[in-house]
Amino acid sequence: MTQALYYENPPILRWTTEIIERREREGRVHVVLAETAFYPEGGGQPADGGTIAGLAVEMVYQEDAKVFHVLERDPGQGQVQCEVDSERRWHHMQHHSGQHLLSAVWESDYQCQTIGFHLGERYATIDLTGPELEAGWLAAVERRVNRKIHEDLPIVTHSLPSHELKNYSIRGGDDFVGPVRLVQIADLDDSPCCGTHVTSTGQIGLVKLLKTERVRGCTRIYFVCGMKALEDYQAKDQIVRALCARYSTGEADLLQRIEGDERRLQELTREHRELRQLWLTLQAQTWAVGKRIVEADVCEPDDASVLAKAILDAGAEVAVVRCGQRLFVQHNGDLDWHFGQFIRSEGVKFGGRGGGSGSAAQAYFHDPEQLEHFAAHLKSALEGSDDE
Ligand SMILES: [Zn+2]
Repeated sequence: MTQALYYENPPILRWTTEIIERREREGRVHVVLAETAFYPEGGGQPADGGTIAGLAVEMVYQEDAKVFHVLERDPGQGQVQCEVDSERRWHHMQHHSGQHLLSAVWESDYQCQTIGFHLGERYATIDLTGPELEAGWLAAVERRVNRKIHEDLPIVTHSLPSHELKNYSIRGGDDFVGPVRLVQIADLDDSPCCGTHVTSTGQIGLVKLLKTERVRGCTRIYFVCGMKALEDYQAKDQIVRALCARYSTGEADLLQRIEGDERRLQELTREHRELRQLWLTLQAQTWAVGKRIVEADVCEPDDASVLAKAILDAGAEVAVVRCGQRLFVQHNGDLDWHFGQFIRSEGVKFGGRGGGSGSAAQAYFHDPEQLEHFAAHLKSALEGSDDE
């Protein structure tokens, strides 16, 4: 059994010890230390990182009361110097403790129970039972949690025999066998937990809720604590400053300026669409003079049907409009031709696919050269039909 310094003496992050067991798995060496401060993955909390004899600890896991550390190679015989990555440990402790506080407030104030916890490198999440959150709940919980942080309440851990649990109001149920590790936040919260925690709520620093989403009937809340919350604030502050500089305005007027620009963009888009239709109509009128079949090219698929209609309105009998790998064909109704059927039967010979009605159809060609061959075939068939 490994002596767990992460429970017995959490401040120890550097120590010297010996390797008491080693085994090889998938090209890696897994070692057991006489005593370890490396927290093994578990309870929603990732493993600690750091080094053993200068080698990076890639993973830490527990198996049958032994803690295994995964290393790239065997560090050799004798004593080894060990060091836990203190920043990573602090990140885990702040977020795990922040989670206890957050879950306690959701349960006491809104009767939402925490049924899931995930701690990642950039943020943490909890999954809450209950209905969809109402407006104002997030801000209220954020305020209350941060007030409890300012009160700097003690966080203490006890190991209790399970029969003593009945003396506590346990969040997360009290159905346990054997000794239970209970994490207490003053008189606010009692929660069984095997993770690492800070020793007072003040050390959590800050809790900021980022966003929520509904997942399998629960509400998932994303949050950050302490230094991550500061980093999040710094990153967002930079974005707001850059936007203020770009819009030459202050934070208070920023949203209004962006909304104003969006409205202007909508107006310009509408105007642009109308002018474009007018321009296509005028072009169609020029092209259609004295012609029975008019061919044209457009860049936007939306323009194709507008142009085809304009060409027919201008007096042509057939409009053939290309747009990238698509071909649009339309006739004015006087022609005894079924374009949809023609594309289905003839287009396939050129690798095209598509269809449509008798008077309007479209086809798609993977090979642009084949589109040209099909267009020529269609045109010669149409011209042939005129001769008859
Ligand atoms: Zn915990």
